[in-house]
Amino acid sequence: MEAKHQNRSFEFFQFEMDGKALDNLVIENDLYHALEKNQLVVVFQPQIDLCKGEIIGLEALIRWHHPTHGFVSPGKFISIAEETGLIIPIGEWVLRTACQQLKQWHDQGLPPFRVAVNLSIRQFYQQDLVEKVKEILDETGLAPEYLELEVTESMMMNIDHTKKTLDALKQLGVQIAIDDFGTGYSSLSYLKHLPVDRLKIDRSFVSDIVSEHSDVTIISTIISMAQFLNLEVIAEGVETLIQKEILESRRCMQIQGYLTSPPMTSEQFSEQFPKLQQKVRLLVKSGMAKN
Ligand code: C2E
Ligand code: MG
Ligand code: MG
Ligand code: MG
Repeated sequence: MEAKHQNRSFEFFQFEMDGKALDNLVIENDLYHALEKNQLVVVFQPQIDLCKGEIIGLEALIRWHHPTHGFVSPGKFISIAEETGLIIPIGEWVLRTACQQLKQWHDQGLPPFRVAVNLSIRQFYQQDLVEKVKEILDETGLAPEYLELEVTESMMMNIDHTKKTLDALKQLGVQIAIDDFGTGYSSLSYLKHLPVDRLKIDRSFVSDIVSEHSDVTIISTIISMAQFLNLEVIAEGVETLIQKEILESRRCMQIQGYLTSPPMTSEQFSEQFPKLQQKVRLLVKSGMAKN
């Protein structure tokens, strides 16, 4: 009894000294149960094409509604999920939920846009990733070309594994995008040998595009490189009309960001789809894009 008590106060003392550790421990503990308690939600953010004037895809993004802490952002718990390995079941759940939802929208007659799902590094190095993806596609009935998997440059350090995994995913028929492009290490020769379909220009370059000329230069360089390699390119985090217009002037015709819409729950997206389509058409008209 005595010893136990001592132990407890020691633990408490440690926690007090490091509030962050306590925070992380609480999150870790609760995260174990978040899936079974239905506290996780997938939200969807539209990606649009300014030439077509259409929604071309939706990015699936995870949210955690914690009963006492309220909304916990993925920035806070994805790294913990990574460290604990919980990202494997959580990531699989996101993938299944996103594919199911997209299939349902297609079946309801919505246009055949794709869904983009973020992979974490642990998932990317998971032995049976490719089989899992195939299993989920079979199970949900979503045609593989409508699924895009997002990886980051930082995951691709092991070139042999990266090539093998991306080739196998590509064999399934899914699309591959490089997320947060420009923030990590990538070389032209590296990209040339990988079956990548799309580069996503990181939000950090877009946010200062109006004031920082160097960011415009970086974006132009990424776009030229993408053209050279025959890749599509989309800009993330587009919030203003001016940003959209600068991107358009550099022939970056796909955008994602608050200017079009924040991420929405599936119910919100279903409900707002007609309005959203109208907004996309107006955005195209307001710019320089010509059909
Ligand atoms: P990401 O994949 O680069 O996702 C884009 C992030 O930018 C999202 O943040 C989105 O809500 C936010 N965003 C979109 N438009 C704008 C804008 O116009 N302005 C600003 N300031 N932000 C915008 P979110 O949802 O908080 O996700 C953060 C990161 O967490 C994601 O970055 C991704 O790396 C990770 N993540 C989210 N969901 C998942 C998931 O299901 N699995 C994995 N492994 N990672 C995920
Ligand atoms: Mg992403
Ligand atoms: Mg990103
Ligand atoms: Mg990211």
